[in-house]
Amino acid sequence: MSKIQVSHAVLDYVDNGKSFNAINDLDLFVEEGEFVSIIGSSGCGKSTILSVLSGIRPLTRGEFLIDGEAVDGPGKNRGIVFQHYSLFPWMTSRRNISFGIKQINNEIKPREVDEIAKQYLEKVGLHGFENKYPFQLSGGMQQRVAIARTLAMEPDILLMDEPFGAIDAKNKLVLQDVLLELLLNEKKKTIVFVTHDVDEAILLSDRVFFMYNKKIEEEITIPFDRPRVREDIFKTPEYLKLRERIMALFFRDVMENIGGNEVVI
Ligand code: ADP
Repeated sequence: MSKIQVSHAVLDYVDNGKSFNAINDLDLFVEEGEFVSIIGSSGCGKSTILSVLSGIRPLTRGEFLIDGEAVDGPGKNRGIVFQHYSLFPWMTSRRNISFGIKQINNEIKPREVDEIAKQYLEKVGLHGFENKYPFQLSGGMQQRVAIARTLAMEPDILLMDEPFGAIDAKNKLVLQDVLLELLLNEKKKTIVFVTHDVDEAILLSDRVFFMYNKKIEEEITIPFDRPRVREDIFKTPEYLKLRERIMALFFRDVMENIGGNEVVI
């Protein structure tokens, strides 16, 4: 039994009486402890799937199970990290994290909450920034706090919606490495990560799902052992082949959408 099972999923958005189909007959199976990325062009339905997995949006039709049980809303077993850091601006880093911990356990003593918050800030490399407010931190640091807050809530399943999409190129690499290292040391989590960055998907994932035409069209297994070191992986022939394969899927998508055989730049 897969940890996450989505079968024959259909989701229609209804807006002003009009219905728009965003995902159609989609199947998605994720094993316990697996890291999968969902990749695809803008508008193909990646974020819609995450909103279904988070429980925010019910499916129009189809089945969604976690650990074999039907899911009918949000739950403490799932944590979400969004592209925009979603921190409370009036709370320090530590208080943002403490707030998250208290949401899932309001019996835990304040001193203990504080200690856990500090530990998670250290894990994301923000020791010494406990009392800073979001406006005193860079975008990358704010995203580290957001990741720490979600991890401190100890969800089994981590849903990440382009978490590094708004971070500059250099800090994005740093954050990918922070995430890789964090996950090595954390209790095993099942992760669904949405991105449109091919290198990021290959570096982080066990499997990459390419989304097209409102469903998962291809599954690509990433064969690299962990721990993974970017510089070692990126120069291997396997990496170049995987990259080429995924880029070809994007290219086909572009060609079909412009309806021609030539791309004119
Ligand atoms: P992606 O994350 O891959 O960019 P989305 O899941 O955000 O794609 O969107 C899939 C499709 O559903 C898009 O065509 C988008 O315009 C449409 N869509 C997303 N949210 C809504 C909504 N609330 N109401 C109507 N259509 C929506």
